[in-house]
Amino acid sequence: LIALKVENVDFPDGIAFKCKQCGSCCRFIPGDVNAEEKRLIEAKGFVGFLGAPDSTGRTLIRRKKDGSCFFLTGKNKCAIYDVRPMICRIGPFQVKDWDYKNNVITVETRLDLACPGIHAGSEPASQDAVKAAQGYVREMVELTAKVEKLPITAEEVASIARKHIITNTVPFLKE
Ligand code: SF4
Ligand code: SF4
Repeated sequence: LIALKVENVDFPDGIAFKCKQCGSCCRFIPGDVNAEEKRLIEAKGFVGFLGAPDSTGRTLIRRKKDGSCFFLTGKNKCAIYDVRPMICRIGPFQVKDWDYKNNVITVETRLDLACPGIHAGSEPASQDAVKAAQGYVREMVELTAKVEKLPITAEEVASIARKHIITNTVPFLKE
C-alpha cells in the first residue's frame, strides 16, 4: 500500500503566469465536470449545461454556437467563476505526470492555448492552479480505486491512475 499524497506540484520553470482574462481558453477547451462540480453548478440554478460524455469518458460543458463555453459571458467573464471546474482552475496548464513513489505532480504548459498570461506575472502559478492539479490527481486515484474495486492506497491503483494521467484518459466505471 502507498500513502495517497499529492502535495508537491512542479510547474515549468520561468512561467510566471498571470491570467489576462482574454477568454481564449474558455473558447478553446470545454471544461469537463465531475459529479461534485455538477452539483455545485446546479446549486447556482444552472441546468442543461452538459453535453454527452466524450470518447475519453469525460462529461464536458456544452458549447455555444460560436464554440465558446456555455458559461462565458459577453465580457469574457465566467458565470460560475467561484465554482468553475478543476480544468478551468489549472489555467493554461495540464497535469503531465504523477510520480506517486516520490509524491511529485508534474505540470506542463498547454502550448495549444497560446495563453497571453504566460510570462505576464511574477509567480509560477496561483494557489488555485496548485490546488486544481492536486485535486485532479486525487480524483483520478479515487475514480481508479472505485473502478478497480481496490483500496485507494493500493499501489496498483496509483499505477493505473498514473497511466490515465499520462494518456489523458478517464477510468470508466464498468457496467
Ligand atoms: S488563462 Fe490565459 S488564455 Fe485563459 S483567459 Fe487567462 S490569459 Fe486568457
Ligand atoms: S466554466 Fe468558466 S472558466 Fe471554465 S471554460 Fe467555461 S467560462 Fe471559462
